[in-house]
Amino acid sequence: MIKAVRGTRDLLPPDTALWNFVEAAVRDVFRAYNFQEIRTPIFEATELFARGVGEETDIVNKEMFTWDDKARAQSEKGQSLTLRPENTAGVVRAYIENHLWDRGLNKLYYMGPQFRRERPAKGRYRQFYQIGAEAIGPPASGSESPARDAEIIEMLATLLDRLGISGWNLELNSVGCANDRAQFNQALRKALEPVKDKMCGDCQRRAVTNPLRVFDCKVPEDQPIIEKLPRISQFLDVGCRTHFEAVQAILARVGVPFSLNDRLVRGLDYYTRTAFEFTHGALGAQNAILGGGRYDGLSEALGGPAAPGIGFAIGEDRLVMSLQEKTPAESMLRKPDVYLAPMAGMNAEAAKLARELRRHHLVVEVGDDTFRLKKSFEAATKAGAKYILIVGENEVQVDAFALKNLVSGEQVSVPRAALAQKIQG
Ligand code: AMP
Repeated sequence: MIKAVRGTRDLLPPDTALWNFVEAAVRDVFRAYNFQEIRTPIFEATELFARGVGEETDIVNKEMFTWDDKARAQSEKGQSLTLRPENTAGVVRAYIENHLWDRGLNKLYYMGPQFRRERPAKGRYRQFYQIGAEAIGPPASGSESPARDAEIIEMLATLLDRLGISGWNLELNSVGCANDRAQFNQALRKALEPVKDKMCGDCQRRAVTNPLRVFDCKVPEDQPIIEKLPRISQFLDVGCRTHFEAVQAILARVGVPFSLNDRLVRGLDYYTRTAFEFTHGALGAQNAILGGGRYDGLSEALGGPAAPGIGFAIGEDRLVMSLQEKTPAESMLRKPDVYLAPMAGMNAEAAKLARELRRHHLVVEVGDDTFRLKKSFEAATKAGAKYILIVGENEVQVDAFALKNLVSGEQVSVPRAALAQKIQG
């Protein structure tokens, strides 16, 4: 038997109803903040992620699904392609390529699958789903303002509340900018020099190539060492500090609770200033529901114009998991309103009636005229239908049908014209 590939899975009903519920709420909430949907390709040039996410990140280093796409024709060039491991780089590429600033398109959201070759675990997959948004625009268009950071974070709090997810925690940090980051990196390198040999292999490498990434380390033995390292909060320049204070002041004013965590540096290289993460206790080890931050230099790193921006990515798999605790997916699923049971030779009449009823937005399931009545009743019950309706020759002739309520057992004869209303009622 051929099975789904390790780290991938099928999303089945009734769970898919919960996914749809989440996505509908997202569209509704994001729209209220004037975000519009963008869909970018699922694979991109490998270089986009190397430059946009960062060569030294775990994602680019170890987790990408990359292949050489060979030229098929003289006119084509072969190139290295990668399944997108995240969507911010793709959105910013699209922003640059399509000159979205000319069209005033600076608030965009996306939903879709992402791919990382991570060790699969509960809540960690190789194909997983992210919902994200990016607010990006030319300098002095407001896209660099702390008000944008706070608006995005407040939008997320609103979304989680709307979904009925309680007990979330919001952690905030500022990771500074190019200026202070250089000084911080220098201080980190110095502090790591005497201790790095006692750390894990990854950290020994990071200490040399990109010391900030040491804060991504999850190895328990390394944590006491990491605890004692200098923190970015000690190095923020005046601009970064003022920005960070303004974000906090707005969040306090609009009533979004948060705590500060100066170890939070996030997994991607391009972040500047505000970084944040929402966690949820019920999720266990993989407790991060979403993360985001500001990336003021990303557009330029990808060869575009200056375009400060801020965004986030929600792990939809985990969002749905935290919902499942309280909301059984079964309750989201709309069962058939009526099951049509055609008697011998009556498939066409049943199809005609089903068409009429569906025009009234009823959910209709249709049996088959080879079924005996007993089998139709069993099928109707199994499908969870509220009513069963018999479509026989007599019924069609008098244009009235026997309609039985499968819950109460009540059976009535209803004229064709009144059927939809009776079933809806
Ligand atoms: P990141 O793009 O790494 O900042 O991740 C943003 C969010 O995506 C995380 O907070 C997780 O909820 C989710 N996420 C990241 N990697 C995975 C994965 N392998 N499986 C499931 N969810 C993931």
